[in-house]
Amino acid sequence: MSLNDQWFTEEYTHGGTAFSLKLGTHKKLHEEQSPFQKIAIYETETFGNLMVIDDCIMLTTRDNFIYHEMMSHPALFTHPDPKKVLIIGGGDCGTLREVLKHPEVELAQQVDIDERVTRLAEKYFPELCENNHDPRAELRFDDGIKWVKDASDNFYDLIIVDSTDPIGPGEVLFTQDFYDNCQRVLGPKGLFVQQSESPLIHTESIIKPMYNKLTHAGFKDINSLHFPQCSYPTGWWTCTMACKDGKIPQFRQQAVENKVFITHYYNKAIHNACTATPEFLKLALNK
Ligand code: SAM
Repeated sequence: MSLNDQWFTEEYTHGGTAFSLKLGTHKKLHEEQSPFQKIAIYETETFGNLMVIDDCIMLTTRDNFIYHEMMSHPALFTHPDPKKVLIIGGGDCGTLREVLKHPEVELAQQVDIDERVTRLAEKYFPELCENNHDPRAELRFDDGIKWVKDASDNFYDLIIVDSTDPIGPGEVLFTQDFYDNCQRVLGPKGLFVQQSESPLIHTESIIKPMYNKLTHAGFKDINSLHFPQCSYPTGWWTCTMACKDGKIPQFRQQAVENKVFITHYYNKAIHNACTATPEFLKLALNK
């Protein structure tokens, strides 16, 4: 990461790339070292506020809607009847807000290791936290790996892992032990979704190992969903969906067309398009 008077730059040294945002007049709004990570908030000139954890961009006001909608709606419209949803990580509450838009969801538990992320989101991204007092929402502050270890068998319909990269406190959320417990605590037809980084630069290091571990845990069908996210390395991002005990079902197209809430990125055509696998990824994943 580098910072000068004008620009915040995240350098992604492994990929030899960088992304910069021009800072606004107030520049750095906040910085602290929580017990788990360094959290900073900046004001940008054109992307609203920016949250950075351990020098990696987490979200901006302007483009977070794409990520949060893609982490939630494809899975929620694929599960036949999603009632109990667990979000691991996601402390900015953007994924939680999208999950709560689904009237059939009865319980949406968000388990983030770091309460400070949520408190800062409440202050600097209040629009993402506007439904945190929905009676169906439960905000817990705990380690995700411990949470799934202690959870009951077959309890959840959907698990969404909205974590940081597999370094620091997020590393445990990419381990075999974590996937084994996710498989166990999902009910019949249960779905799992995890943010899985960029196919351009993370196929070998993150996506392939994730597929192998999910398969080893017993997940029966796995597919990555693709979307643009300009503020993450390469600007091309994925989340990976896996089904506990069979083929990932066809999504509920009629329900998408009749949805009772507004989305800004996700729709039926986007859902169809995002599930397509590029040739190089098919080859890498033996699909
Ligand atoms: N969209 C973001 C991205 O891909 O860069 C992720 C945003 S969200 C803020 C990531 C959250 O994961 C952080 O709030 C962090 O505290 C949380 N986290 C990291 N490790 C965790 C763990 N072991 N258990 C629960 N939450 C964790």
